[in-house]
Amino acid sequence: MAIRIIVKHPDPVLRDKAKPIPKITPNIQKLLDDMADTMYDAPGVGLAAPQIGILKRAIVMDVGDEHGLIQLVNPEITYREGEQLGPEGCLSIPGLQGDVKRAQKVRVKGWDREGNEVEIEGTDLLARCIQHEVDHLNGVLFTDVAVKVYDEPRDDEEEGGRS
Ligand SMILES: [Zn+2]
Repeated sequence: MAIRIIVKHPDPVLRDKAKPIPKITPNIQKLLDDMADTMYDAPGVGLAAPQIGILKRAIVMDVGDEHGLIQLVNPEITYREGEQLGPEGCLSIPGLQGDVKRAQKVRVKGWDREGNEVEIEGTDLLARCIQHEVDHLNGVLFTDVAVKVYDEPRDDEEEGGRS
């Protein structure tokens, strides 16, 4: 386990499309663990592999709810419902926050760290985080989709957190 360096905007790796992971290997499990360490250290509520310079479809999240740590490989959003508009920040874009319109509830399927197919349903902050991380895998940043971007307030951690 190790803390990796978080790539910052405008590094071009953040704009590339990440590649599917063909199978779970010890290296992929180590990647997922390093991503979790890096996210907790930041601290953040989510992290996508391109944010540590790895163009593979892997994400980790922990929004502090009953799901705990979620590690997902090849995530795909299968269902979206409703709408929420709220503040969002990104570990790769320090100092900025934006109001972003997201689905209120989503389902995402993928593999867990053992390669089992899983489907997770998230609402509110978890739904927001899932959409933010999957965007990262497609080279999309929150500043592309925000209705408004502004300087991060100093007490932002209460609201949503960065991912
Ligand atoms: Zn981000």
